[in-house]
Amino acid sequence: MELTDLQARNQQILALLRETGRPMPSPGSVALELMRAVERRDVSVFEVCNIARTAPMLVARTVQMANSALYSGLRPTAAMEDAVMRIGVVALARLAVGLSLVHAAGGWDADFDLNQHWRRALARGLVLQHLARRLRNLPSSEAFTLGLLGNIGQLAMVSAYGARAATADEGTEDGLLRHQRRLWGFDQNQASAALLDGWGFPISLWLAALPIGQDTAHAAGRGGELSLTVDVARCMAAALCGPVDPAELPRLYMGAARLGLDAQAMIAMLDQLRADFPSMARILDISTPDAQAEAEFQRLRAALSTTPPIDRPGPGAALVIAADKARASEIDDALQADADLRVIVAPDLWRGLEWLRDLQPDVLVLSAELAGVDVVALCRELRAARGPRLYILLVTDDPAAEMVLQAMDAGANDVLAMPADARLLLAKVRLGGRTVRLIDALEQERHNAFDMQRELARLNANLRAAAYSDDLTGLPNRRALDDFLQRVWAETARVRQALSVVIVDLDAFKQINDNHGHEAGDRVLVAVAQALRAQTRASDMLARWGGEEIVLVCPGTDAAAAALLAERMRGAVERLRGDFPQITLSAGVAQASPADEGFADVMRAADAALLQAKRDGRNRVVVARAPRVPAGD
Ligand code: GH3
Ligand code: MG
Ligand code: MG
Repeated sequence: MELTDLQARNQQILALLRETGRPMPSPGSVALELMRAVERRDVSVFEVCNIARTAPMLVARTVQMANSALYSGLRPTAAMEDAVMRIGVVALARLAVGLSLVHAAGGWDADFDLNQHWRRALARGLVLQHLARRLRNLPSSEAFTLGLLGNIGQLAMVSAYGARAATADEGTEDGLLRHQRRLWGFDQNQASAALLDGWGFPISLWLAALPIGQDTAHAAGRGGELSLTVDVARCMAAALCGPVDPAELPRLYMGAARLGLDAQAMIAMLDQLRADFPSMARILDISTPDAQAEAEFQRLRAALSTTPPIDRPGPGAALVIAADKARASEIDDALQADADLRVIVAPDLWRGLEWLRDLQPDVLVLSAELAGVDVVALCRELRAARGPRLYILLVTDDPAAEMVLQAMDAGANDVLAMPADARLLLAKVRLGGRTVRLIDALEQERHNAFDMQRELARLNANLRAAAYSDDLTGLPNRRALDDFLQRVWAETARVRQALSVVIVDLDAFKQINDNHGHEAGDRVLVAVAQALRAQTRASDMLARWGGEEIVLVCPGTDAAAAALLAERMRGAVERLRGDFPQITLSAGVAQASPADEGFADVMRAADAALLQAKRDGRNRVVVARAPRVPAGD
């Protein structure tokens, strides 16, 4: 479907839901105002805070969230602005929507377990947030929202049509969706997309609420990966908040494996979830009995710790394309003996090929005698399209026919003469499924090993860079400076060359933080670091000493030259303009003297000069004691 078709369908679904006259889940007015505000790119934190302040509960929860483990590592804050800067304006708006929806008193059927709905939604949100951070396929606040609200359509359907809208006889997710589409013309995923679209959520977000295969608009590329991510989060949340369905675990494993996560990574994710869940549940007012939650975590952890049941004759799927109805039901009857096998009988070839593409079964049971069809060419095409991931079992009245032999050459895996013993037919189909799953597992293992190597190399490079540079400005940090000095200090003494240091301290920087916010302060620091770097030479070392102090070490440079350099830096910073407040700097310059026992002595001298510069009125450079010239030189 095209995007415009999907948008039109969203409108239709909303109209259908409204027609029932039942209350719909809907975010409060403050939440909607926030949603509109953050869509504007120029919105300020202060504006957003002012809107949010009209809902005191939202203010309290925002501060709570900013101080929660999800944003850990930062000092606690009590100020709304601080909290919003930390979690971001978008996350605030999404939090407001989530809160108002959890609190909305709906017309839910007494049979519907509302709290369970929200617990599952929260688990989905946290898993998605975790996955999105790892895979970088969605901003993490959006991922959380998508998880939390991705199934909001179910609430709408329960309100509109009663608790039966959320239960299907078959008990599987796919069965439920089919059941909903049959009865009302749309399912809960489509309803979720419609509601999110109606509330002004971005297109990418509501599209991701639609699973792959259901609509083609985003089946490829990143959209496909995103949908897979959503599916893994859904499986994980379902397994966590409810009985672990053994049939769902392989699906969870396979999905996770495709995203590059092995069992270990899943357990790590589960542990993270366990840590984050209680505080987020409190923030969103989702009640969760601690003992029950703990038991659920332990159960899923144990299930994940056992080896993935890939090689067991698990719940594979077989698609049957037969020459006529009699043959089709003969095959169907034989295969039904295995309750774990999903059997799908196609009414005709064209539908069969469509299902083959959409449902991706492991095994295809194909009649060699399909009227008007070149079965040899068909086998060749399927093999080319699916590689080893489809086991083709030909069934034929005449296994010795030339055409059957050609079909085997073209790509069919096996042939069985009909009528056949039902047990033999089933055994062959199961063997086919197992073969495909093994190939899948091997491939995945190879893939994981490769991914892991690449990931390790990337991590190592990042770690090395992170250990020696400062996160905010990208300048070398103190540790890098120490390393540099160890090499340079000895060399300087040996060849008796000059060495100077400049300590730079921004003027009245605290006021910038106080008046414009910490974020503005950070932007100033980044811009200043860039401007200073532009003034330095390759042999100089410019490092962030700490806070808003930056140190420049210049080997082979005397105090007079270093002072010139410092003056150039001062001028450059004074002229700096951008999306941040204006700023000046003071600098202290000192040259190493032979009497210095270590670099710390030079630093002390430069620091004293810096203090003098501040006392003299700031925005200036002061040079420390004149270097003592060694006698005889
Ligand atoms: P002075 O002219 O005397 O240097 O005044 P000042 O306000 O700059 O005073 P001081 O150097 O003592 O204050 C430094 C301030 O820099 C205090 C601290 O909150 C702030 N600061 C330190 N590191 C960071 C940072 O990484 N980001 C931001 N935004 N502020 C920082
Ligand atoms: Mg300072
Ligand atoms: Mg300062």
